[in-house]
Amino acid sequence: MNFNESEEIAALRETLRKFVSRECTPEAVGRWDREDHIPREMLLKLAELGLCGLCVPVEYGGLGRQVIALSVTVQELARGSTAIAGLYSMNASYGGLNISSCGTEEQKRRLLPGLLAGETIFAYGLSEPDVGADLAGVKTRAERRGDMVVVNGAKRWTSGATQADYIYTLVRSGPADARRQNLSFVLIPTGAAGVKLTKLKSMGNNGAALHDVTLENVEVPFANVIGGEAGWNHAWSMLAGPALEVEKLGPSSMALGLAEAALAEAWDYSQQRVQGGKRICGHQAVRHVLSDCQTKIQACRLMLHHAASLVEAGQPSALATSMAKLFVAENAKDIVLSCQQYVMGAYGYAQGFNMERYVRDVLAIPIYGGSSAIQRNNIANLLKLPRE
Ligand SMILES: Cc1cc2nc3c(=O)[nH]c(=O)nc-3n(C[C@H](O)[C@H](O)[C@H](O)COP(=O)(O)OP(=O)(O)OC[C@H]3O[C@@H](n4cnc5c(N)ncnc54)[C@H](O)[C@@H]3O)c2cc1C
Repeated sequence: MNFNESEEIAALRETLRKFVSRECTPEAVGRWDREDHIPREMLLKLAELGLCGLCVPVEYGGLGRQVIALSVTVQELARGSTAIAGLYSMNASYGGLNISSCGTEEQKRRLLPGLLAGETIFAYGLSEPDVGADLAGVKTRAERRGDMVVVNGAKRWTSGATQADYIYTLVRSGPADARRQNLSFVLIPTGAAGVKLTKLKSMGNNGAALHDVTLENVEVPFANVIGGEAGWNHAWSMLAGPALEVEKLGPSSMALGLAEAALAEAWDYSQQRVQGGKRICGHQAVRHVLSDCQTKIQACRLMLHHAASLVEAGQPSALATSMAKLFVAENAKDIVLSCQQYVMGAYGYAQGFNMERYVRDVLAIPIYGGSSAIQRNNIANLLKLPRE
């Protein structure tokens, strides 16, 4: 079903399938899920395969802008574990791309080698207790004092904060009434004085646990402001810039991998489970559900591949990436729920089986990375649908 994929991409899938079957054993994946923690060493192992440089330019030791390969990597990892796919995506994709695109020369030289080696880990502090989709409303404040910046405020839902070395933090660095102006990104070391991390519990997506991050008079050098002088008060263009296109592809790729894993499991199960004297794959209702799921998966693959190809080629892609995020996240949710409810029965509901974890994990994807409602807004706006 892998339409026209290049030999390199086919080889990459093969390498990742081996990696996933070796590293994402049922025992390991169950533990990451139960403990809501994935060891940071997993990123070292992915870096050994050269996969942390897919968004980093060659002059900084990366492989250039390999967006299709990046999407395929996240898909394949998500088939084994959303924990590992999430940790990888936040670093190789968001970290690699944002620092490469927006960092100063000094920041690139200082931070990218560690990122490429899987040794320096980044978490993202954008959301706040009162700020979700409307990031222009960020309240966490940063004040410049000579060569230092002092940060006060609170971030919420910061995934993987305890594994991370830095929180890539969106702050208000000037008057609040300016909305999209006066925002900056500051790299805050998780071990800095005044940083407090509190783990939050959620129903799924376990591995890179969600955290509340309290920032009380946290002092960091001005050298940690992304983009330096040029970046101070100009984070909005970084947020809404080229990195955004790749960021929408991360959760979409994760959704596709997860849906593929769920469907593969339901497909096999339907051929083993016997009811009424025949395998349930022989019941028309089950056959139709599985056929619909296969069709939706294929549509998701095509849509995601198209969006990733446009981004990789540097062509306009805002519409394609928003449509892909909306379509793949919503269809992945439908696919996983159909597999659980109409094929797996009680074995899809009981703890200790993969399907129950797939359900918990897939439900988060239409929420983060730009919710489905926000993608619908984007699509209507990009297609210039009049408001009145
Ligand atoms: C598993 C998970 C991991 C996350 N990891 C991180 C992380 O690492 N770092 C981080 O900063 N954040 C993270 N988040 C937070 C995530 O980015 C936010 O949940 C998301 O931005 C939505 O914000 P909200 O939940 O506050 O919802 P709100 O913004 O309060 O929205 C509530 C509802 O209203 C809808 N809505 C809001 N505004 C509009 C609008 N203009 N038009 C139409 N509908 C609208 C939304 O779609 C949603 O359905 C994570 C969330 C989850 C679930």
